[in-house]
Formats: sequence, C-alpha cells, structure tokens
Amino acid sequence: MARRKFIAGNWKMHKTVAEALALVRDLKRLLSQVRDCEVVVAPPYTALYPVAKALEDSSIKVAAQEMFYEEKGAFTGAVCGPMLKEAGCTYTLVGHSERRQLFGETLESSGKRVKAAFKAGLIPIFCIGETLAERKANETMKVVAEQLDAGIARLDGESFKKIVIAYEPVWAIGTGVVATPAQAQEVHKMIRERLHARDSKAAEVIPLLYGGSVKADNAKELLGQADIDGALVGGASLDAESFAGIVKARST
Ligand code: PEP
Repeated sequence: MARRKFIAGNWKMHKTVAEALALVRDLKRLLSQVRDCEVVVAPPYTALYPVAKALEDSSIKVAAQEMFYEEKGAFTGAVCGPMLKEAGCTYTLVGHSERRQLFGETLESSGKRVKAAFKAGLIPIFCIGETLAERKANETMKVVAEQLDAGIARLDGESFKKIVIAYEPVWAIGTGVVATPAQAQEVHKMIRERLHARDSKAAEVIPLLYGGSVKADNAKELLGQADIDGALVGGASLDAESFAGIVKARST
C-alpha cells in the first residue's frame, strides 16, 4: 500500500502572529495545487490559533511544537492537549531533540506525551535521533530503538496505527550537515522493522519522516529512499518559497 507523503515545518521560536500570518498566506498561494502530500506547519504557541483560523479554507494542517501530558493543574508555563486541540491543532510534535536536550524531556515523559496527545484527539509527530557522540560510539541503532520503544509502549493498537515518526539525527539539526540518503535510510529501515514487530499492517502505513538540514536542493534524494516518506523541516520552513520547494520535491 502506498504510504502518505508528509512534510512538516517546525518554526521553533520564530514568527510573531503578524509574521506567521504572512507566511501562511504565501504558503496557501504556493501550495494551492498540492493534493497528494500532507503539509503541516508548527508555529509557536502564540500563533497557533490565528494560523489555524487562517488555514481553515486550506488543506495545510497545524501542529503544536510541544504539549504537557497532564490535562490541567498547577503546571506554570505548560499547555495541555485539549487546549491545543481547541486552538485548531491536528498534530503535536513530541520528543523533539531540543525538548530532550534543553528542557529535560525523558524517555518516560515522551511516552506519556504521545499517549496524552492521542487522548486529546491529536496525532503525535514523535521525534527520535542520536547525538554525534552516540553515532561515533556506534550506538545509533540502540539509542533510536530505545527512544522509539519508550514512545510507543503505552499505545493501544488504534493509536499506534496513526502515529507519525520523525528520525532526526541531532548532529544534523540546524547544522547544515545533512545525513546522507544511505545513513538516513539505514535508520529508517530499522525503525520500520521495529514497527513491524508490533503490527505489520500498521508498520507499512506509518509515515516515517527524516529531519535535519533538509532543503529544497537535497530533499528529492533523501525523500526518494524506500523508507523515507517525508520530512520534518526546521530552518527551511521559515521561508515560504523554500518550504514550498521541499513540498514540491516530495509531491512530484
Ligand atoms: C528540526 O528542528 O526539526 C529540524 C530538522 O531543523 P533543521 O531543518 O533546521 O535542521
């Protein structure tokens, strides 16, 4: 069965509301003909609601960059799944390496977030990937498998089928150093095999995204690999022409 093509843009801590609205206006224009690829943007919290409103008449979907797993309470600064759903999100990132490295996300808390996202009616885009030190120590497969297992451990069969997974080697994020297509495919293949062990039918349809310095000019080769179904894009998603170029590289 053909897998869904999927390109998501992670805007990180960039774009005021006005800037975010200008970007989605341009994306809507540039991507109006794209039908065969799920396109997702992940603005910062402050822009989620206005961006979701502006995209109501478009097929582009909205993701949050992070959500807490509790539903309410004394958790200053945190935002829960039901709030994100109400703001117009379809997806949420979970376990991005910047959350793991800078904000104390753990294997256990990422698994709780994945589960809580589904409970809130959101689809998690679950991010996993090794650091440069781990790659140099030949620990890539072990680390990525451990992160993957922690993320899917709490899921029932129905939720498992819907998850989206992004393999993002930490050494390639925001560095301009992109994994070679062979390096990326090798890890994606391992991830797909591990998903097969849980549910073969689901494993064939779960979108596996590559992330790490994807640009319009390297997207086609990366996305041409057998187990790479799309991309999670940081820097190049902040400019409408360059993000649209990546979507077009995937959708043709
Ligand atoms: C990311 O933040 O998920 C990412 C892949 O960033 P960049 O494309 O800038 O490397």
